[in-house]
Amino acid sequence: MRLILLGPPGAGKGTQAKLLMSKFHIPQISTGDILRKAVKDEAELGREAKAFMDGGQLVPDEIVIGLIRERIREADCADGFILDGFPRTEVQAEKLDEMLQEMSLTINAVLDFSVETEELVLRLTGRRTCKECGAMFHVDGRPPKQSGVCDHCGGALYQRHDDNPLTITKRMEVYEKETAPLKKYYNQQGNLKTLEGTGDTEQIFSQVCRLVSH
Ligand code: ADP
Ligand code: ZN
Repeated sequence: MRLILLGPPGAGKGTQAKLLMSKFHIPQISTGDILRKAVKDEAELGREAKAFMDGGQLVPDEIVIGLIRERIREADCADGFILDGFPRTEVQAEKLDEMLQEMSLTINAVLDFSVETEELVLRLTGRRTCKECGAMFHVDGRPPKQSGVCDHCGGALYQRHDDNPLTITKRMEVYEKETAPLKKYYNQQGNLKTLEGTGDTEQIFSQVCRLVSH
């Protein structure tokens, strides 16, 4: 099964991707995670991407398209994958279609998570992530048992550089301008499935499962 998770920053794509990954045994491919790792490792890719990410802007299409081109050819993607945060522009979507066509593959569903902007901003500003295992918490909504410490592995929690009010506003603008038009793109392909991204994580997940199995 090959899925695309669409939706604004903070919509819960990463959370749902992780649940889908455990249920269907297919990898989550998050361009954001790949880029953040490259920045942390001080890799060439990270040096190219960092300024864009810190400013809430998109990393150039060629870079992320190149990443995805290699990633979806890896062995663990043979039975499918979950694209989380890609494509984010029309050029990326068109290139992805080309790549899949070359590989004789298709996308099963594009899930679009709809959440109100105010709620998104609250989620992003309070979001904390485990440095070690990537688990996500929220200072108000889902606080860790011990402040700053991961419930699952004891790792230190950190706040992403781009989860500050100014950069969040920029990311929302970029989303509306560059990524929201993809809803129309996939709707025309007959693949788009919109769902309410507010509420209980498990409930959202059962909706996700229903949508992908139809
Ligand atoms: P969020 O969805 O919360 O904004 P991500 O982790 O998906 O966070 O992305 C973080 C940053 O990484 C983006 O603001 C952007 O700079 C970069 N990025 C991730 N995916 C892409 C992509 N497909 N195209 C361009 N830039 C990307
Ligand atoms: Zn952890």
